[in-house]
Amino acid sequence: MLITAPAEQLLEGYQLREGRCSYCKTTLNEGDSVSAYAVQYAGDETWSVPRLYCRDCQSTGITEPTLGATELLANGRLGCTTDTATQRSTLTLLGIERVIESTPEEGHATL
Ligand SMILES: [Zn+2]
Repeated sequence: MLITAPAEQLLEGYQLREGRCSYCKTTLNEGDSVSAYAVQYAGDETWSVPRLYCRDCQSTGITEPTLGATELLANGRLGCTTDTATQRSTLTLLGIERVIESTPEEGHATL
């Protein structure tokens, strides 16, 4: 049986590769409110967060849904996780609140 965790759980603690707004390129820091665009393609179990927006640039919905993918737009804030062994800190998504979802059946096929 396939167990699907709620989107909030999937994105909570997600480690971000880059802490910059995808639109205005502002550097985002721990504690900042952000909007994260997450996508999962059909047949794929992993989620990726290709786009991150600051509070000023966050959009209110998924304007161009992609066919064959589940897309989420989640509002939350940034946290910081430090690996004590390597002393490297990673930005993570925390406090996911509102999630807008677009199912694989919505949207247009991209050529
Ligand atoms: Zn921005």
